[in-house]
Amino acid sequence: MAETRSTCPYCGVGCGVIIEHDERQIISVRGDEQHPANLGRLCTKGSTLHLTATPALTRQTRLLQPMQRLQRGAAPQPLGWDAALDHAADRLAAIHAQHGPDAIGVYVSGQLLTEDYYVFNKLVKGLLGSNHIDTNSRLCMSSAVAGYKATLGADAPPCSYEDLAHAQTVFITGSNMAWAHPVLFRRLEDARRANPAQRWIVADPRRTETADAADLHLALRPGSDVALYHGLLHLLLQEGLTRPDYIAAHTAGFDALKQRVAAFTPEHTAELTGLRIEDLRTAARWFGSSPATLSLYCQGLNQSSSGTAKNAALINLHLACGQIGKPGAGPFSLTGQPNAMGGREVGGLANLLSAHRDLANPAHRAEVAALWGVPEVPARPGLTAVEMFQAAADGQIKALWIACTNPAQSLPDQATVQRALQRAEFVIVQEAFSTTATAAFADLLLPATTWGEKDGTVTNSERRISRTHAALPPAGAARHDWDIAADVARRLATRIAPERVAMFDYRTPEQVWCEHRESTRGRDLDITGLSYAMLEAQGPQQWPLPEGATVGRVRLYEDGMFPTPDGRAQFADVAFMPLAEPCDDAYPFGLLTGRLRDQWHGMSRTGQLGRLFGHDGLPSVEVHPADLARLGVAEGELLRVRSRRGNVVLSARGSERMAPGQVFIAMHWGGEVLGGVAAGGVNALTSPAFCPRSKQPELKHAAVAIEPVALP
Ligand code: SF4
Repeated sequence: MAETRSTCPYCGVGCGVIIEHDERQIISVRGDEQHPANLGRLCTKGSTLHLTATPALTRQTRLLQPMQRLQRGAAPQPLGWDAALDHAADRLAAIHAQHGPDAIGVYVSGQLLTEDYYVFNKLVKGLLGSNHIDTNSRLCMSSAVAGYKATLGADAPPCSYEDLAHAQTVFITGSNMAWAHPVLFRRLEDARRANPAQRWIVADPRRTETADAADLHLALRPGSDVALYHGLLHLLLQEGLTRPDYIAAHTAGFDALKQRVAAFTPEHTAELTGLRIEDLRTAARWFGSSPATLSLYCQGLNQSSSGTAKNAALINLHLACGQIGKPGAGPFSLTGQPNAMGGREVGGLANLLSAHRDLANPAHRAEVAALWGVPEVPARPGLTAVEMFQAAADGQIKALWIACTNPAQSLPDQATVQRALQRAEFVIVQEAFSTTATAAFADLLLPATTWGEKDGTVTNSERRISRTHAALPPAGAARHDWDIAADVARRLATRIAPERVAMFDYRTPEQVWCEHRESTRGRDLDITGLSYAMLEAQGPQQWPLPEGATVGRVRLYEDGMFPTPDGRAQFADVAFMPLAEPCDDAYPFGLLTGRLRDQWHGMSRTGQLGRLFGHDGLPSVEVHPADLARLGVAEGELLRVRSRRGNVVLSARGSERMAPGQVFIAMHWGGEVLGGVAAGGVNALTSPAFCPRSKQPELKHAAVAIEPVALP
């Protein structure tokens, strides 16, 4: 039996796994004790990975050869790779010629490896001549990106996992990390065991499992995060707990913010957030008086119509108290997906370019054009995830190429997304699994490799780049995502720009990665000192790691210098905005969404394992018992949940984890294909409203009505 080092493909903790296998199949997995992220641990999802890749399941769930659907709704027919790729290139070239480059949208994924992402991004921005490439990471962390850039000057999480052990106060806000980032949560529990004086504040409208473990739970009103952070800054100033010396030496813009937060008195903040003044005061004291305060945050802040403001207002607190750039301190966003960070690094989003460059910056566009050897990168802004599918539903986008993601389940406002997939003239779905809801809409299905078969790199939440290795050859005729994208690009280039064929002359993922590495030279994430060989020899490394360095940087901004024009961090004077869709008489309940402990995203992989359903086996809507009593509904009876966009029927479950007037539905179900149409899950209800700056949709909240379903 052989052993191969890789990483877990689920969440942004980025745990190292050792795959035990023979030539034909994976036998088991165990945590990699030498991987700095998990030090040998795995959670329930990671430790059952091998069971999701058995030969029997591969035969049942994997897409094993290219398939073409000759007619919408018909069963797809197999075809060879050459025919499939020529067909893709022919159709894309024809749409390009007839409607222009902006008629093609490419939608990729934080599950892709960095090398995959790089080729897709170059294909769209360097060959097609548009910027219409976006990623499901838009649903996950684009508000964190915008928040970091607005305040610290670069999209760079300043902390490391080892800071968990140095923190004295831990502020977990908008994150149920006990379930969403389980191995990191175990590290945090270890830290508190080692230092019983460590205190945890958890801000979350629900009393989650993370909140159960908190010393102080702030069950704030949904969407009131900015009011909470402004209110805390007001109290920090009132109690003399800010750091005027740090503010004067390393920041700009504090006076304007100070004026804004003057209005957020304890009384007003309590009114806006629904919290008690004494709890606000305790939180401010713990935050400001601690020698090291670490904030951990995720989708509760990001998936919001004011996601950037929430991120920035939280970072304001760290800057005001000098709680950044030292062990155990800083604002530390947790990424949802395994390689959302890698996608950010290569600029695989509609508004970004390689190595944290901005599409809106002419100098950055010129630098990338020079790197790629093309006359220019187009300046026209690309469409982001929600915008791209709205444009397809409106008939402006004619071709959609979807790789390694399942928008027919995961995007908000499913009715619009399904209209987009039906209206688009040509839909390519490049996928490992044949079972996704989106695959049912494909004109052309391209089989891709997945975990256990892929070779390349990923970056986790702490800026740490790890190698993933293939333990098995590709299943069936599957090919690697970067290889499929490069092959289509070469064929497309022969049709639309023959001089650009050589831009995609890659034979190995390492060639792609070396080109990406060169694009980082002189940038904040410079990795010119890193190589595949160094990753093999020394293990996973954090960026930056410029030429000449022997090890990556654990912590950023320790010298108080920020990557802004004047070297100062910028306080963000952001307004508190209410939810995009407040409750009203017609839709009186506030919907909250989130994850379950043992499932991952749309369950393409975890949904195959009975043992993972042991924790929670059926979709349900959690309702406060007082609301259930008022509706006359018993536990287990059916409830219809309606929003302005759609409705779903689920069994009722009483729960006191939310306040009356709030309901909770887990994100994992929905998207089953019934009669050729994807059936609605929670995203039949969710709103496409998004943050104007980050364009991240408000997946966390919607106004809904609930009513008993009368059985015949
Ligand atoms: Fe995988 Fe995340 Fe669990 Fe680690 S914590 S084993 S990366 S799902």
